[in-house]
Amino acid sequence: MQRTELQSLGEFGLIKRLHQNVKIYHSGSALGIGDDAAVIDHGTDQYQLMTTDMLLEGIHFDLSYYPLKHLGYKAVTVNLSDIAAMNGIPQQITVGLGLSNRFSVEAVEELYQGIYYACEQYKVDLVGGDTTASRSGLVIAITATGTVAKNRVAYRKNAQINDIICVSGDLGGAYLGLQVLEQEKQVFLANPEMQPQLSGKDYIVGRQLRPEARTDLVYEFIEQDLVPTAMIDVSDGLASELLHICQQSQMGAVIFEDKIPIDALSVETAMDFNLNPTTCALNGGEDYELLFTIKPADFNKIKNNPHITPIGYIREPSQGVMLHTRGDSQIPITAQGWTHF
Ligand code: ADP
Ligand code: MG
Repeated sequence: MQRTELQSLGEFGLIKRLHQNVKIYHSGSALGIGDDAAVIDHGTDQYQLMTTDMLLEGIHFDLSYYPLKHLGYKAVTVNLSDIAAMNGIPQQITVGLGLSNRFSVEAVEELYQGIYYACEQYKVDLVGGDTTASRSGLVIAITATGTVAKNRVAYRKNAQINDIICVSGDLGGAYLGLQVLEQEKQVFLANPEMQPQLSGKDYIVGRQLRPEARTDLVYEFIEQDLVPTAMIDVSDGLASELLHICQQSQMGAVIFEDKIPIDALSVETAMDFNLNPTTCALNGGEDYELLFTIKPADFNKIKNNPHITPIGYIREPSQGVMLHTRGDSQIPITAQGWTHF
């Protein structure tokens, strides 16, 4: 039998291939693979949403600088972010844990303190899970459910020409926080007497260790009577997420480099690492902000919102997906994202 290397397909290629062979047996499965969460229709005026995200030691986190409590919090919020990306409100989670004998009961309790805290912050119920032994360190797989009124659901696919592309919060910080943590780890490994120098970097280190889901915006959209035409959360970086919206909506887009919201500390830290801040925002990932498109007529509803920045607009597909740079040239946006394989 032919052997195909995972690298040759990449994460998205693999998912696409698996997707092709899926059979659907229930008419209630309104939307399966391909968006931030699955959409289930129980025949009421609301959809149920369902999503899973898994965090693996050595791939997604390094316990030498990841406090377990933060890790528990993040494992929950990254899932709630996918519910928010459908314009939904989260309700329940289940927690799958793989543990090696390296972990004590106290360590697991610390992890759960973070999980409980996230549940309290987002008013989500922990309703089950699974616990198993692991040979390769800590694994946390969380499934979250949520609900959204049928007329408020936001897919990745319905962006229209001239829609305004908006993003919440600021971008690139989580990636730069990770660079700071990695650097301090190397300093510590070289000389264990050295204490980590994280002071002044709290904001971006926090963006990495303890991201929030933007459920607050989902509530704001309800108040403003606004439904984004398309929405996705920024887990892999602005470039990758914008390409998902454009591919699924069969549209082109232009975003303006000078509009991309990047915190001053992120810019400063990027410079220290000889990185381009825009590249960090485009390809860094893990910011868990919301990227969405709105009809031009809805612009008034967001224009004074300090949490939301318009960064560009949707165009004809033939115009491609472009970055209008500070130097006034337009370059095609390509996804780098994370390739785990
Ligand atoms: P997100 O970054 O929003 O969590 P992903 O890029 O991880 O989304 O996944 C994209 C889509 O593929 C989602 O609909 C997800 O449910 C689906 N998916 C990912 N991995 C698998 C898998 N192993 N089997 C089936 N569906 C998957
Ligand atoms: Mg997502």
